Amino acid sequence: MRIAVLRERAAGECRVAATPETVKKFIALGATVAVEAGAGAGAGISDAAYSEAGAEVGSAAAALKGAGIVLAVQAPDPGDLKGADKGAWVAATFDPFGNRARVDAYAKAGLEALAMEFMPRITRAQSMDVLSSQSNLAGYKAVLAAANVYGRAFPMMMTAAGTISAAKVFVMGVGVAGLQAIATAKRLGAQVSATDVRSATREQIKSLGAKPIFVESVAGIEGEGSGGYATEMSEEYQKAQAELVSSHIAKQDIVITTALIPGRAAPRLISDAQIATMRPGSVIFDLAVAQGGNVEGSAPDQVVEKHGVKIIGYSNTANHLAADASALFSRNLYNFLSAFWDKEAGKPVLDEEIGDAVRLTQGGAVVNERLKG
Ligand code: NAD
Repeated sequence: MRIAVLRERAAGECRVAATPETVKKFIALGATVAVEAGAGAGAGISDAAYSEAGAEVGSAAAALKGAGIVLAVQAPDPGDLKGADKGAWVAATFDPFGNRARVDAYAKAGLEALAMEFMPRITRAQSMDVLSSQSNLAGYKAVLAAANVYGRAFPMMMTAAGTISAAKVFVMGVGVAGLQAIATAKRLGAQVSATDVRSATREQIKSLGAKPIFVESVAGIEGEGSGGYATEMSEEYQKAQAELVSSHIAKQDIVITTALIPGRAAPRLISDAQIATMRPGSVIFDLAVAQGGNVEGSAPDQVVEKHGVKIIGYSNTANHLAADASALFSRNLYNFLSAFWDKEAGKPVLDEEIGDAVRLTQGGAVVNERLKG
């Protein structure tokens, strides 16, 4: 089996879908790995490091010739994959709901698209889950980026010139990114509170030493929620949540929002009127900015100032930690493919539970249940 790793085609994407570590591991399984020259540059990985690991390094066309599997962070256009085998697998993120045209193009090209963001949230797939690995880094980076533009310190400091008080940080949405944001803000010495719609997060917030702030008058989502995901909340809940946020947010210095709902635009959690109640100099980081934003007025990769409050958000937060993000993403892909590696067939053979979940296209058609209807 020949595995091709291309330089990412999306503008500004610095991550790469294989590292010398995973190249060695794929070769140990019996695969051949071909890497496009320069593929690792954005993540600090030289062509020589890939060669030393045993990869062939050359042009994209050379890498693709005869490839049965292509690895990518963001799926390239099928037109960039000419030369790959008929029916080749492409394991990457596809943004299947946001970019349906690309999914259709994969079907038309006869390629098999495997969308890593559709990995089921089951215990055995945890090590294959790119959403978790990238969100974890994003939650960390969001706090650092907010701290960077905040004109005050995070920890309480008692100095000869007097005391400065700890920053108050409020994290909205306590999934993988939110938990890491809480942990990072705590490490920096902030006073942290957090909220979510899923009741299971209450204990998780407390276990990190932060204060849970929950809507009490209307029931939220029991336990973990379906597959660990939230759904859109009722109007009644949204109203109660808006009141809760209004009373809490005015006392906060930093707000990190991370709330997402699969297949839908991100829920709006903070209005312009609520921003106006915050102290000038406060900072909001909107981790959902690329999915439409949790915060009114946030814009990808811009610092927007409203009522003296700086609102920031990156379109691709994990990309700001490209080396670690690549290392984890690459291991996710290796863990996925190696778990199904059939030594006799010399290639992976997916089972139904995970295969049907991640496979978008096969035999010229869109086959994924979540994309039908
Ligand atoms: P996510 O990125 O889809 O959403 C982020 C958070 O926003 C979630 O906690 C969600 O409940 C919250 N949210 C949504 N709407 C909200 C609203 N209106 N107000 C406030 N909060 C809102 O979620 P995620 O970070 O990918 O993960 C969610 C859960 O899934 C976590 O508990 C995680 O541990 C679990 N998980 C399990 C596995 C596995 O078992 N393989 C893998 C990954 C994640």
